Amino acid sequence: MPPSTHREPTGTQSARPHSERITLANFIDGKHVAGGRTFENISPVDGSVVATVHEAGADTVDTAVQAARKALEGPWAAFSVTDRVRMLRRIADVIEARSEDFVTAEVRDTGRPEKVVRDLDVPRAAMNFRVFADCIASASLPAYLTDLAHGRQALNYAVNKPLGVVAVIVPWNLPLLLLTWKVAPALAYGNAVVVKPSEETPSSATLLAEIMVEAGVPAGVYNVINGFGTGSTGEFLTTHRGVDGVTFTGESATGSAIMRAVAPSVRPVSFELGGKNAAIIFDDANLEAALDGLTRSIFLNTGQVCLSTERVYIQRGIFDQFTAELVQRGRALRLGAPDEPSTTTGPLISRQHRDKVLSYYDLAVQEGAEVLLGGGVPDLGAPLDGGAWIQPTLWVGLDNTARTVREEIFGPAAALIPFDIEDEAIRLANDTDYGLAAAVWTSNLERGHRVAQRMRVGMAWVNTWFLRDLRSPFGGIGLSGIGREGGEHSAHFYAEPTNVCVQL
Ligand code: NAD
Repeated sequence: MPPSTHREPTGTQSARPHSERITLANFIDGKHVAGGRTFENISPVDGSVVATVHEAGADTVDTAVQAARKALEGPWAAFSVTDRVRMLRRIADVIEARSEDFVTAEVRDTGRPEKVVRDLDVPRAAMNFRVFADCIASASLPAYLTDLAHGRQALNYAVNKPLGVVAVIVPWNLPLLLLTWKVAPALAYGNAVVVKPSEETPSSATLLAEIMVEAGVPAGVYNVINGFGTGSTGEFLTTHRGVDGVTFTGESATGSAIMRAVAPSVRPVSFELGGKNAAIIFDDANLEAALDGLTRSIFLNTGQVCLSTERVYIQRGIFDQFTAELVQRGRALRLGAPDEPSTTTGPLISRQHRDKVLSYYDLAVQEGAEVLLGGGVPDLGAPLDGGAWIQPTLWVGLDNTARTVREEIFGPAAALIPFDIEDEAIRLANDTDYGLAAAVWTSNLERGHRVAQRMRVGMAWVNTWFLRDLRSPFGGIGLSGIGREGGEHSAHFYAEPTNVCVQL
């Protein structure tokens, strides 16, 4: 057991060993609020308890929503666009100054390699705030002259207002990155937020509260409530009539439940949901680049990225050689402790999620897969065997009728499937109820554009993966979501325009 260093639940977190147990309260109206039931947060690295978390019941959720509503009418309402730009940039600066604290928080909850969090998540969190600062700093809404009959004219212009109190509900797979991706535009457009992080990963959202205080964000603008989904904090939040809209990242089935919850009061939603993403490898591709890219897109974050590739369509002429080399790259991955510099791959988020992923490992075999790599649980010795470790896995022998190829697994696994011609590859890649992302690997530029445009997804990459300009639209179609966020696209959800028409 790690040393138990119970402290009052102020939520204050500083860089210290990931194994030290902390207590996390809710954060409402600028203050840490403890009380009510608590639950334990378990490290996926070794199964130890890393935090005691205060769960927000219906009353606490109500207090948070009321605090956010009050903030909308308080000093926050007087913040000009210039004030908000300055504040967002200050938040980004403070995140960078507290970078190691965020590494500690993220690694404590997720067990991901420190280096990945340090190089990817923390800089991206700061960037999320900077991009939306730039976005509102340069935004202007056009005015239009309307020609009426008899030479008269009218002037139309729109003013953007905040949506209001925004519920921000986020998952566990990239906690800080996905949280700030929603909080930054919400604040940029003048909203107040009530954030519910995943019950698996509460640390970063609580730590971000400290950054908000330090950056001068008025009390009540950023609130955090901890707890579970159905029958708990998440449901209390989405059914609360004081919430003006819900922005959510998570499973498609949860998105569906949230739609039902907000339907009676017809509030807007922005949903970034699951994926069953395809990659297409043509025989003219730069195969080294494709192998590197695929190794990242299948195994990064132990396959727990919504954009991860779980279906790979490979042109038949290169199929055997390509799959053999992909297996070699999979074998070179290093599972291990987060602070071990050679570690490339962490555990899954929990034993419960591992059970789900392992059920697909079994199903794949029942459905006729040949396992080329992995397929089970690794033997890493104590103390890691107490964690949620799993082997990176590759299958051949499956086709699009298999459940393994149709359902989101959210683990480090992919099915490798041959194809003969371009149209067939497009048909196979689009044969899914999801529609988040796709990657096309080819040296033929025309084909790259042609195939990418025919992908039925929100985002298609050519000869790369997960390369993001944060001003571009992010989101999916079908089961993968509703709406697009990113740069000015985010205004469609976070801002409510009022059009003014003046007859001249
Ligand atoms: P999840 O849907 O189980 O949980 C996400 C959040 O919703 C958590 O905070 C959870 O407590 C809350 N929640 C659950 N039920 C709820 C309810 N009834 N009402 C309100 N809140 C509720 O998802 P997860 O397992 O945490 O995350 C993995 C999923 O997220 C995968 O499907 C993945 O593809 C998806 N994801 C999508 C994107 C994207 O941008 N499209 C990004 C990351 C993850």
